[in-house]
Order: sequence, then structure tokens, then C-alpha cells
Amino acid sequence: MLAGYAAQDNTSRGRRYPEPAPGNRSEYQRDRDRIIHCAAFRRLEYKTQVFINHEGDLFRTRLTHSIEVAQIARSIARALALNEDLTEAIALAHDLGHTPFGHSGQDALNECLHEHGGFEHNLQSLRVVDVLEERYAEFPGLNLTFETREGILKHCSPRNARELGELGKRFLDKTQPGLEAQLVNIADEIAYNNHDVDDGLRSGLLQQEQLADIGLFAEQSAEVRRRYPDIAPRRAVYETVRRMINHVVTDLIDNCRRLIEESGIQHIEDVRRRSAPLIAYTPAVAEETRELKRFLRQNLYAHERVTRMMGEAVKVVRELFEAFMRDPALLPPQYQDKLSGQQHPGERARIVADYIAGMTDRYALREHKRLFHPSAG
Ligand code: MG
Repeated sequence: MLAGYAAQDNTSRGRRYPEPAPGNRSEYQRDRDRIIHCAAFRRLEYKTQVFINHEGDLFRTRLTHSIEVAQIARSIARALALNEDLTEAIALAHDLGHTPFGHSGQDALNECLHEHGGFEHNLQSLRVVDVLEERYAEFPGLNLTFETREGILKHCSPRNARELGELGKRFLDKTQPGLEAQLVNIADEIAYNNHDVDDGLRSGLLQQEQLADIGLFAEQSAEVRRRYPDIAPRRAVYETVRRMINHVVTDLIDNCRRLIEESGIQHIEDVRRRSAPLIAYTPAVAEETRELKRFLRQNLYAHERVTRMMGEAVKVVRELFEAFMRDPALLPPQYQDKLSGQQHPGERARIVADYIAGMTDRYALREHKRLFHPSAG
């Protein structure tokens, strides 16, 4: 049932530590199952997407975001006869390396590490599944297949790519990953563009009138109002957002069918030799999504209420980093153990960064309070 160019167990580049084939599952189902059972996956529940975790119970967190990405990506994968299990595994793992407090947390940690190679959440997601999860007796990390790891690593600097061997090669050659990886990358964007409109409106940070000039929203919203003139406002938003998702997903599937057909690819290795992606919108819809992204960047992500909160978050991350570097005795015992064997400042900074990156929003706030305002209770 899978297309010839889909990822398949028998064409997989395999795992870093060879294992017997799974009994009643595919290789990629096993990857997905390992991801769902890992600690970093559970922590996604308490990590920020845009709104800090405690701002409200209805906003997306990294966990619900990842589930929405998986849902969108799986529908597209099935429509294109791609490997749905691999697609799901990549989608559920794609944000595992995110710091607390969203992009501000990442930027802060990146600054703390600027003399030691920087911090990049995407590379950190790979580090989580390759190294940091310690749960299996026979290997470090989750020992995932090459294809899942390839999909997790969406971008990478040439310097880091050189250290990653086979996995980093495509960033130096400027070639593409398999179609499932390309697909999750776009599904990620579809998910956040649309749920951020929903969350933005619910929070009151965005007003519907501001979206009147944004094609993707305006078109679907007008159609909803024409069909259901008496619809309640909140319901109209849901109905509009679901139509926006459907609009871009339909365009994507139709366009990918055409691009794949024209490309003549037969095998996943044909996909990997290409310089241009085959999972892409038509130019018109690509422009519509860019317009929406620009709008969200200017009006939601840069909203004064979001940036004020994020300014606080940057301070928390920076102060935690400085405190742990100054006095490793403040770290939990297992991190002290890791640090005690390391003399190199870069290695020490990386261990502290791993600890901070793994924190949830509320855990980071609690740690900060414990270290800096112990009397605050
Ligand atoms: Mg994401």
C-alpha cells in the first residue's frame, strides 16, 4: 500500500546500535512507541508554545501542538501513500528539545552558550533521543532509526553537520531528506499558523478585524459568515480555522501528487538526491501562508504582553545558567556526577544547558524561586 518512494523497513538505513527486527510492529512503530514512553515527551505538556503554561488551560502547549502536527501530517502521509508510522514518530519527537518558555528560552540559552557552540532546539531534540534519554539497558538514548532522526533534524549549521556524519551530510550537500521528513516540517507550520490564530483570538491579543486583510483567514471567514449568518463568534472562529487547515492541506496534497509524478522518483534514495523539496504548496498558497506568518510575527509573537512575559523568562534562564555554572552543588546529584568528570568549560556548560533545556516552564520558575527568592515560600 506504500508508494515505492515511501520510507520502508526494508530500505531503512537502520539504527546506530543494531537490534533484532520487532515482532509485531514495524520499525517506525517501534520508534513512535519509544518516543511516547520517554520522559522528554511527557514534559512537553508543561512547556510553552506561545503562551506560558500557566496562562490558561485552553492554550496549546508543546504536547498538544505535537499531537496536532501528528494528526495533520498523518492525514497527508496517508493521502500520498507515504509511511504514516514514520510520519507520526517524527511529528511526536520534533519538539522534544525545546527549552522552557518557547523561543525566548532558547535564545537565552543560546546566548549563555555562545562561546561553547551555542544552543539550537532542533539539534537538542536529536540529542534527547540519541543521548539524554537513559532508559534502555543496551544502548544510550532511544536508538531510533536513521529516518526518524533524519526527520527530527530539520536544520543544522555546517559546523554541527560535519560532526554528525551520515546524518549531517545533507546539510553540507544541500540535498533533501525523505518525503516523510519534508512533510512533518510543513505540517508543523500548518499546525502553529492555525492554532496560533485560534489562541491569539481567544486570549484577546488578536482581534478578528486585524485579520480582515489576511487572505487565508478573510476568505474562509467570509464563507463561514455567508453560510451561517447567525453563528456565534467563538464557533465562527473554530469553523474558519478548520477551513483554513483544510484549504492548505488540500492544496498541498494536490500539488505534491503533481510534483511527485513529474519528478519520476521511484525510491527514497531518489528523494534524498534531490536539491529541491517535493512536499510544497502551489505558489499562490505558499504566498498566503507567508502572509499569515508575517502577520502572526508582527501582531502576536511581538505583542507587548507576550514579549513582557518572555523578557521575564529570559532572565530566569540566564540566572539559572549562571548560578549552576558558578556552583554545581546546586544541581541535582545525577548532574553533579556528570559534571564532576568534566574539566572542559564547554562540556560543563553543555551539561548545565541539558539540565535547563529539559525543564518545564513551571519547574524552571520553581528552581529560580528556590535559588533566588528562597523566602518567597
Ligand atoms: Mg513545532
